[in-house]
Amino acid sequence: MSRTDYAGAVNALVDAGSICVVTHVRPDADAIGSATALMLGLRQRGKEVRALIGQDREISGNLLSIPKSEEIELTQELPLGFDLYVTVDCGALDRTGYLAPGLERAREEGRLLCIDHHASNEGFGSVNLVDVACESTTVVLIDVMDKMSLQVDRAIAHCLYAGLVTDTGSFRWGRPSMHTLAARLMRYGLDTKQIAVDLLDSTTVEDIQMLGRVFQSLSIEQAGAHSLGILVASLDDIGGHTDSAVESLVDFVRALEGTDMGVVFKEMAPQVWAVSLRSSTINCAEIALRMGGGGHLPAAGYTAHGTASEAVAQLVEVMS
Ligand code: AMP
Ligand code: MN
Ligand code: MN
Repeated sequence: MSRTDYAGAVNALVDAGSICVVTHVRPDADAIGSATALMLGLRQRGKEVRALIGQDREISGNLLSIPKSEEIELTQELPLGFDLYVTVDCGALDRTGYLAPGLERAREEGRLLCIDHHASNEGFGSVNLVDVACESTTVVLIDVMDKMSLQVDRAIAHCLYAGLVTDTGSFRWGRPSMHTLAARLMRYGLDTKQIAVDLLDSTTVEDIQMLGRVFQSLSIEQAGAHSLGILVASLDDIGGHTDSAVESLVDFVRALEGTDMGVVFKEMAPQVWAVSLRSSTINCAEIALRMGGGGHLPAAGYTAHGTASEAVAQLVEVMS
């Protein structure tokens, strides 16, 4: 069975009358934009569609600029009885948080479609559309929606563009066709300047002060032949700050001179660290997989436990 089954995905979506869309916890713009674009597109066909995230934490304010994002429900329980369950932008089943056990049952029943673009995704659905050539999951969805002859409108274009502009680092990496797709979406009248402000640039005094505190922790660690630029963001530093500010930290170490990899340790709960890896020379997905996480070659992540120095030492050991 193919991991990149466009026909199987389209058939599953066409056949289903009711569809439950699930995206990943700690969502980014690709997660939200994929869920909302698919929801809006499928509703054109009169289908009953809900979109869910399996976490308690509110979706960060900047992502609520994406059309219909306010309809995404935060829940601990997967509602039963849908014809089809679709995960979008989830590289592994555990990225669905509370909803993973329910989705596992949906897979056993042959009702789980996985639509994604992560290199580390092995295809955890009963039907899988994992296209690792795509810059964002919204790029995969453009193809799916075209194959279903769904009509892109301004709201859907906004959702799709949100994933494309953010997952390409503002069009810094990707195929030539990312620009063609961006041009196509812009023709629906998107205010791309405002979208950039909402999703990428908007910040607050408190968040800038937080960044300043975290930058004090910058250190260089040697791991075998590699040099790592490391930021440690403790719960004391980042508690109460926006996800967008916390997620922006990694951009400052992704290409630090004299290093091969940038790493940010973000303490999400006491001694529980969301770790982000970025590199243009080292395979981040492979290292993240060894640490129990996943992702793409240049950007990946995993969860670590313990004190900050223990978490750093675990990574250094694995890479040495
Ligand atoms: P982040 O550093 O959180 O922006 O994540 C970079 C990439 O790695 C994203 O594509 C994530 O989907 C993936 N990733 C991050 N954390 C995890 C994790 N705990 N498990 C699997 N994949 C992850
Ligand atoms: Mn994502
Ligand atoms: Mn993505």
